[in-house]
Amino acid sequence: MNYRVTPIPTESTRNLCESVAIFRVLPQNQTLSVSLCRYLLTTMSSSASASSDSDEETLRRSRILKSKLYFDVPLSKVPVIYAASYDIAFLGIEKLHPFDSTKWGRICRFLVSDGALHRSCIVEPLEASKDDLLVVHSESYLNSLKSSANVAMIIEVPPVALFPNCLVQQKVLHPFRNQVGGTILAAKLAKERGWAINVGGGFHHCCGEKGGGFCAYADVSLCIHYAFVQLNISRVMIIDLDAHQGNGHELDFANDRRVYILDMYNPGIYPFDYEARRYIDQKVEVASGTTTNEYLKKLDEALEVAGHTFDPELVVYNAGTDILDGDPLGRLKISPDGIANRDEKVFRFARERNIPIVMLTSGGYMKSSARVIADSMINLSKKSLIDLGKNA
Ligand SMILES: [Zn+2]
Repeated sequence: MNYRVTPIPTESTRNLCESVAIFRVLPQNQTLSVSLCRYLLTTMSSSASASSDSDEETLRRSRILKSKLYFDVPLSKVPVIYAASYDIAFLGIEKLHPFDSTKWGRICRFLVSDGALHRSCIVEPLEASKDDLLVVHSESYLNSLKSSANVAMIIEVPPVALFPNCLVQQKVLHPFRNQVGGTILAAKLAKERGWAINVGGGFHHCCGEKGGGFCAYADVSLCIHYAFVQLNISRVMIIDLDAHQGNGHELDFANDRRVYILDMYNPGIYPFDYEARRYIDQKVEVASGTTTNEYLKKLDEALEVAGHTFDPELVVYNAGTDILDGDPLGRLKISPDGIANRDEKVFRFARERNIPIVMLTSGGYMKSSARVIADSMINLSKKSLIDLGKNA
């Protein structure tokens, strides 16, 4: 059976959508072949899927525009975001985890007791609602969190599987949802003030369809989608310096040219997500045992490359402290001063280019992490890279 198919894109169809073309079939006999029918069906179904993508985008926009998470913050407050509801205390179960699950509150207490920050200046965010979470997450993923066994797996605390889900929601997921609200609000504050620090958040292993590695909600992806719609931002750079690879946001923004990802991570530890690694724009691998000087040198080089390659309107800095020497999960050997130096380099990178920066504290849950983070924030304040409202 012979036939020839000649695509003839018309001006009007090219204007509407380049991928849709009108075909003229030039039969050498008069039979329309099965493969042509199949071709036409495929074309129709891809145009249906394009329209369902745009429906999804419309729904996402409307959810973001209806959200209450962006609210006006008076200038008397400093863009440091935290609420007591961030901290996790769960009948002592949290002690079974190697994590300091009250790190977030301890950071703020250090800042206040050191006289660097006034308690009343801290911004309290709202909890992310189901509609807010649906901006990135699927309904089926959110439903999967109604199983305590699934949450136990995500946060890596097996005994949590034994508790009724209402308790797990209240004691574990509610604190996380508050931190998500904080990450989302941070982008608005950063746009207004030049910088914002969410004392929690940075759940970079979670994507729209899957949680893991202590990350139940994809706050990084949510924050960026809100910024796209509400802040009229179209280019975002993620600088992920947690010891682990940020596979969650990498999968969520796979091939999305609006987002540039610089990820510096130890390839010899969790999550070994080789698919997600393909979506990193600048991959810097730091092997177990890497020390401070070597680490900072690699960071300098990476920032230099990032600055020449991409021109962002917002930087989201995932500042995990599990790169600290002695952290059993990160396996790197960075000193506390090295952490302060690292944070200073990233804030300077943003300041020199006049780009708003959001910092998230992410991983690093040794008892010493809270003190190290507070010291680093005080250092940023001393170097005038942030203003905590008091002379630190
Ligand atoms: Zn980590």
